[in-house]
Amino acid sequence: MDFSLSDEERAVRDTARQFITREVMPLEQEALRRERAHLPGLDRSELKELRLKAKKFGFWGLSTPEEYGGMNLPAVLQSLIVTETGRSFVQFTFGGEADNILYHANADQKRAYLVPTIEGERVSCFAITEPGAGSDAANIRLSARRDGDDWILDGEKTFITNGNDADFAIVVAVTDKEKGVRGGGTTAFLVDREMGWRSEFIQTMGEGGPAALVFDNVRVPARNILGELGQGFELGMKWIGKGRYLIPSHALGIAERALGMAIDYANTRETFGRRIGENQAIQWMIADSEVELEAARWLTLRAAWTVDQGEDPRHSSSMAKLYGANMVNHVVDRVLQIHGGMGYTRELPIERWYRQVRLMRIYEGTDEMQRLIISRDLLRGYTKIGGHLA
Ligand SMILES: Cc1cc2nc3c(=O)[nH]c(=O)nc-3n(C[C@H](O)[C@H](O)[C@H](O)COP(=O)(O)OP(=O)(O)OC[C@H]3O[C@@H](n4cnc5c(N)ncnc54)[C@H](O)[C@@H]3O)c2cc1C
Repeated sequence: MDFSLSDEERAVRDTARQFITREVMPLEQEALRRERAHLPGLDRSELKELRLKAKKFGFWGLSTPEEYGGMNLPAVLQSLIVTETGRSFVQFTFGGEADNILYHANADQKRAYLVPTIEGERVSCFAITEPGAGSDAANIRLSARRDGDDWILDGEKTFITNGNDADFAIVVAVTDKEKGVRGGGTTAFLVDREMGWRSEFIQTMGEGGPAALVFDNVRVPARNILGELGQGFELGMKWIGKGRYLIPSHALGIAERALGMAIDYANTRETFGRRIGENQAIQWMIADSEVELEAARWLTLRAAWTVDQGEDPRHSSSMAKLYGANMVNHVVDRVLQIHGGMGYTRELPIERWYRQVRLMRIYEGTDEMQRLIISRDLLRGYTKIGGHLA
């Protein structure tokens, strides 16, 4: 058994780390200052510029096929790189990416939506969640009715990431109530903002914020159907499933950086005439954090490896997402505790992480939904205890 990284994996990981350290981390103080003034840490043009700089460094389109100018990296490498981006709280991701389901577009749609999204010229958002349909995504109600060569979309989506900035939305709508959501009754549409939907900012405990999207009889040409009529829910599940191992990958970067800060603080802060790290209470918090971090690392890399093996990654990705999201919440909480009052201030990014990581237990499948998937697989005998080693 070999737990080491290959030379290539190590080299790519180290280069990504260099980029984040040299180009992204120096922006942190300014990002914190802006966020305290309720402004984005990086505006759209700054993000674009940084992504183009990263392109020169060799990072562009981590998951994008080579024919679209991307790197099409194996999942393990993508996971390692996303961990590096997680080290900085500046909201940066490498460019050259598009939603995985946009590859279901036809040639005209690829020119109008996929390619400009990859190039960073257009911003997309993906909308399935509704006020009455979150975990139970099959309960969506936003309707699309045929009217000549068009479809008329009516209803509301909520909690949509990028919903305030997006130029277009990928919207899953009910096109045939009789067939039902799981029976081919839903369809995905590409809907430009100019077609008439509006977004409303939702205040959350995190920075930035998702949006509610309102569709009040929005007319969409039939040529804007993404994929096949009746394929909407299937595409939606594909969109949600894609990133599942990447959320814990990101969590690893946050936890590593935060734990490093706690160790430095424990080695320097003195109370009662000695460093706080000399107290068992602090040592145990550091030890527990390291153990959970390491366990999350191997669950996450195993999930990514499963993707690379071409096997069904749902079970391992759900385990990694569930454990990784909880791990980073525990670690950041302990790191805040170790910093005492300073941890609670906005001088340091710890309280920001504390608010940010709470979301990881909710979006792209809550803790409870991951548990449901994991236990259902086992109860039905679809997965064996012990996974691929069983
Ligand atoms: C910041 C943010 C960004 C988001 N981005 C997007 C996006 O870009 N696009 C998009 O479409 N959606 C997005 N979402 C929506 C997100 O995926 C949903 O919030 C999530 O799936 C949970 O749905 P819900 O909020 O309706 O909670 P509910 O489904 O109402 O669940 C409430 C609670 O009940 C639990 N629960 C529900 N059913 C069961 C059950 N059967 N057994 C046990 N427990 C259960 C849940 O786990 C949860 O704890 C985002 C959400 C947030 C907060």
